[in-house]
Amino acid sequence: MTSLVQESLDNKVIVVGAGAAGLMAAGQAALQGAEVTILEKMHQPGIKLSITGKGRCNITNALPVSEFSKFIKNNYKFLKYALHSFSNQDVMDFFEQMGINTITERGYRVFPATGKAADIVNGLIDWNKKNGVRIITHSPVVALIMENNKIAGVKTGRVSRIPEKIYKAYRVIITTGGAAYPSTGSDGDGYKLAASAGHNIEQVRAALVPLITGNFIAPRLQGLSLKNTAVSIFIDGKKIAERFGELVFTHFGLSGPAIISISRYAVEGLNANSEVVISLDLKPALDDKQLDSRLLRDLNEKGKQQFSNLLKGLLPRKMIPVCLELIKIDPSRKASQINSEERKRLRVFLKNLKFNITGYRPFSEAIVTAGGVNIKGINPKTMESRLIEGLYFAGEVMDVDADTGGFNLQIAFSTGWVAGNSLF
Ligand SMILES: Cc1cc2nc3c(=O)[nH]c(=O)nc-3n(C[C@H](O)[C@H](O)[C@H](O)COP(=O)(O)OP(=O)(O)OC[C@H]3O[C@@H](n4cnc5c(N)ncnc54)[C@H](O)[C@@H]3O)c2cc1C
Repeated sequence: MTSLVQESLDNKVIVVGAGAAGLMAAGQAALQGAEVTILEKMHQPGIKLSITGKGRCNITNALPVSEFSKFIKNNYKFLKYALHSFSNQDVMDFFEQMGINTITERGYRVFPATGKAADIVNGLIDWNKKNGVRIITHSPVVALIMENNKIAGVKTGRVSRIPEKIYKAYRVIITTGGAAYPSTGSDGDGYKLAASAGHNIEQVRAALVPLITGNFIAPRLQGLSLKNTAVSIFIDGKKIAERFGELVFTHFGLSGPAIISISRYAVEGLNANSEVVISLDLKPALDDKQLDSRLLRDLNEKGKQQFSNLLKGLLPRKMIPVCLELIKIDPSRKASQINSEERKRLRVFLKNLKFNITGYRPFSEAIVTAGGVNIKGINPKTMESRLIEGLYFAGEVMDVDADTGGFNLQIAFSTGWVAGNSLF
């Protein structure tokens, strides 16, 4: 390893937060010859990383990087340089070189082949240690030390018997994450630190989050999960987006991948006091006409059966009473007695089951944070602050966020990589 910097105080780098971006930035900075310390507030590094992708860690997405613009909802242009400098292929190669093979699944989602997020976390920690990075846990950074618009170090707060401490540094990289899932340590501290350096903070809000519904349907179906459902969102009557996949009914409303990935539109709509409606198409493979023919055929063929019996072929068992209640058909009626108006009501239930969205769940249940450190104050080619020399940002603390599918971790890795390689 060649050292690009002379041995001196000018060599000291502090990384604030040992998440995806911090671990990448720190290891890269150490490879450049820096003396790197990561200060992590929690008792161990990478807690959020270890629960990503339901414990399997969807590290990136294998689509061409040029297509990421469709999935990065906020400030894609700002991220473009970083995404091309350390691309999805680079992320896969990086982990493969560590001996962690990857697999690509549905939706081009990339996971470690072992299916264990812990392998990614441990791989990153070991790589950092091998590069000489010190990781100090139980060390919440509470203040930045700045002199003449230059970074000079950080101050950590007291944690039980560990006293507060000053760490002098020539470069500081803030990788504290967003405000989603604060139990993992990412609770919005980075915004305060950035604001103390004069950075503007874009309003912070939950972006990928379960939704609260206003009618009785979801609580009655609590626990039921539907696959292959088309989910559409309407804001003030206008269709804004559609997703296809799995959803789950909960005691408060709707969750699951298809809902989470469409939720940002709901949050924006609700925050703008608009009417937000989610519509479920439970039979997306059939258009209205095809579905009507299928219903007619079933009703004719099984005319002597009770109508509720016929529904068993169309709906999960748990949904049948709810369906009957909504379409107002007596379950004991014979299938042959169902008239065209009633058939239409069933068709609407199957193709356009509507939910008024009245709210969204708190940050504690959100996957990512929209908003954060305004990107105008950050140089996209280095991730350095345009206000304070030697101060850098990477990862979710910035006003960047994306859909599910591995894009958020790719953002963290790419921006961490750029920051770590741009310090000298
Ligand atoms: C349940 C869940 C599942 C997810 N699954 C995926 C997925 O599969 N794929 C994907 O792409 N994205 C996923 N995400 C999103 C992804 O985890 C984040 O976007 C990503 O971790 C952000 O990386 P980061 O390094 O910026 O922040 P984080 O990974 O959140 O790390 C920030 C670190 O900073 C520390 N910290 C905070 N404040 C301080 C302080 N003052 N002093 C010291 N340390 C501090 C925190 O303790 C934390 O360790 C998921 C998120 C959640 C909540």
